[in-house]
Amino acid sequence: MPAAPQLFGGGRFTGAPPRPPFFATPAVLDQPLSSLPGVGPTMARRLEHLGLIRIGDLIEHYPRRYEDFTQRKRIADLLLGEEATVRGTLAHVRVERTARRGVRLTKALVADDSGMMEAVWFNQPYLADVFREGMTVSLRGVFKPGRRGPTFVVKAHEILAESGETVHTEGIVPVYPASEEVSARFLRTLLRLLRPLMRGTPDPLPAAVRVAARLPTRGDALLALHVPRSLAQAAQARERLALEELLLMQLGLLLHKRRTEAQVRAVALPPPGDLVRRFLGRLPFRLTPYQEQALADIEGDLRSARPMRRLLQGDVGSGKTVVALYALLRAVEAGAQGAFMAPTETLAEQHMETIDGLVSGLAQAELLSSRLTAAQRRDALARVASGETTLVVGTHALIQGDVQFARLAVAVVDEQHRFGVAQRDELATRTASVLGQETTPHMLYMTATPIPRTLALTIYGDLDVTVIEGSPAGRTPVATRLVGEEKRAQGYEFVRRQLAKGRQAYVVCPIIDESETLSASAATEEAARLQAGEFRDYVVGVLHGQMRPAERAHVMSEFKAGRIDVLVATSVIEVGIDVPNATVMMIESAERFGLAQLHQLRGRVGRGTAKSYCLLFAETTTRKADARLKAMLTTTNGFELADRDLEIRGEGQLLGARQSGLPDLKIARLTQDRALIERARRLAQRILTDDPDLSQPKNAPLSDALQAAFGGELAWLLKA
Ligand code: ADP
Ligand code: MG
Repeated sequence: MPAAPQLFGGGRFTGAPPRPPFFATPAVLDQPLSSLPGVGPTMARRLEHLGLIRIGDLIEHYPRRYEDFTQRKRIADLLLGEEATVRGTLAHVRVERTARRGVRLTKALVADDSGMMEAVWFNQPYLADVFREGMTVSLRGVFKPGRRGPTFVVKAHEILAESGETVHTEGIVPVYPASEEVSARFLRTLLRLLRPLMRGTPDPLPAAVRVAARLPTRGDALLALHVPRSLAQAAQARERLALEELLLMQLGLLLHKRRTEAQVRAVALPPPGDLVRRFLGRLPFRLTPYQEQALADIEGDLRSARPMRRLLQGDVGSGKTVVALYALLRAVEAGAQGAFMAPTETLAEQHMETIDGLVSGLAQAELLSSRLTAAQRRDALARVASGETTLVVGTHALIQGDVQFARLAVAVVDEQHRFGVAQRDELATRTASVLGQETTPHMLYMTATPIPRTLALTIYGDLDVTVIEGSPAGRTPVATRLVGEEKRAQGYEFVRRQLAKGRQAYVVCPIIDESETLSASAATEEAARLQAGEFRDYVVGVLHGQMRPAERAHVMSEFKAGRIDVLVATSVIEVGIDVPNATVMMIESAERFGLAQLHQLRGRVGRGTAKSYCLLFAETTTRKADARLKAMLTTTNGFELADRDLEIRGEGQLLGARQSGLPDLKIARLTQDRALIERARRLAQRILTDDPDLSQPKNAPLSDALQAAFGGELAWLLKA
């Protein structure tokens, strides 16, 4: 590799001040940090450990926080106990040892035009060689009383250059993520040096957009972030840079969405007719306004040949299933097929039951169960392939290679977050000839893991989002209590009182050591223990993931019919089980569950009109677990819980789960920057409406930045 040219005239901080170039061309930003003065090979390696290799990396090494050192005082005005910055000249520099503990102190007299004071540094004897009589210094420290009069205990100092400029001791001082090898102070010095470069960095935002939104240029924002005049200015700069970052992310996602939409067409369904009208007329309840809105959103999608890609978010029990059935029946009505995919066999069976109740006679429904014998499955597949079956329900068995749909037009993926990304999108890649056209199905993804809307825009930015809020009338919030070990007996007593009223209960046992087998046997033992002990007067059943589907279905129907009073289960009951008469749930070792999981579990009760309860048993907890359990007590709103979860766990995991090649966020924070995400989304939409492939000259910098942000991953997006 050829030696990097010395950008700043080379050498160290000696002689004439370095003269940096004035424009930050991409080539300059790509220069290695060793081209900066003061950065030799060793320091370059140390910086590399911080992820800083190029000059551009350093410019994007943003402050973690700021010290507010704006308070500058004259020596005569210092108050005892006060922290302040003082400027003065040095005299009588010396090193002393304290009598008792032998700590080495560097001392000096410091004078300004108002007076004189003694300044002291702990454990930095080398300073005596650095300081010279008559030097002007700026000192940050605390004025403390001492036995021989007050002294100024120095926290940070710097020797003032001729310009009088300070970096570390006055004004708003940025604090950088640093390491043991590279101090924040060193980084601060380097970044100061890059100021002229920052001013000239290319701005991806088109000027018109920037002006309309009254945003500073990228260069000004970088300057204000690294060398702010006030905290307010730094905050504004951060916002501008975060917006830019989020804008690039949204542009990437929207382009991806458009691209996939452009490639494939779905069948545009004719307007709803008699069949769906009969379905809606049959419902034993009135739809909530949110459900109505969801139907309207979906209706809009289905009438277009642009394939629906919609995420339906709604808390546990919010009534997503009827919305799904509506979408599926729209396909059936048009003479095509609908597919309803659920993550567990139990849930698929339950959907089939609901369909038997609400859809009988309207569609030829079929459950593609794993309980089918080979011969039965072959027959079922033949009916799906011929189109005789119009509504297919199942688990991921639906996406196995041998499943051929005759005319799949609408597919619903329930509890979509339980599927892997590839599984989830598998049905969307199926093409079939529907109504004489080669098409892909309209997709509805449902989730009961509430994700804050803005976060959904980021993680699922390529999907449209509909939210069902609240739950149908007649629900009461579930009263939740944390029960300590000493109150266990009272807990059981409470459950018995509910059982005596004819209600039913769940007892949830946690997954043990990630092992289904261990968990299953623990649940079985617990059921036996309760049957012989606390609940000996009632019928106790057990449900876990190791049971054969037939057994499981049997237990479920017994519980539904009220012939089992207490159902001891592992977290297999987490999704979808709907037994309104069950009004109390005990969760064992609640501290082992995540917040989303606890919320899902709790959603199994409170499904009828009777008051419901959730008792959380917890052994000793960690701080995070404690925060989770507290959150469970304070709210039953899934979106609030999702927010809390995000705060507790941090956002890394959520993004990680998506595995979509999204660029790292350097400055934006998904938790804090909700409003900015929305704004970036709107901005991205506006920009793309005006220039769909970012080919106009004014958008060239934006297009370049997008390529850089998404790298090879999504580079093809812009090349139509
Ligand atoms: P989830 O969104 O968790 O999938 P479900 O669709 O299973 O919720 O609905 C939960 C329960 O609420 C079901 O028993 C369903 O019949 C009932 N339900 C749905 N919509 C309404 C409504 N508008 N009014 C009353 N009950 C409703
Ligand atoms: Mg559901």
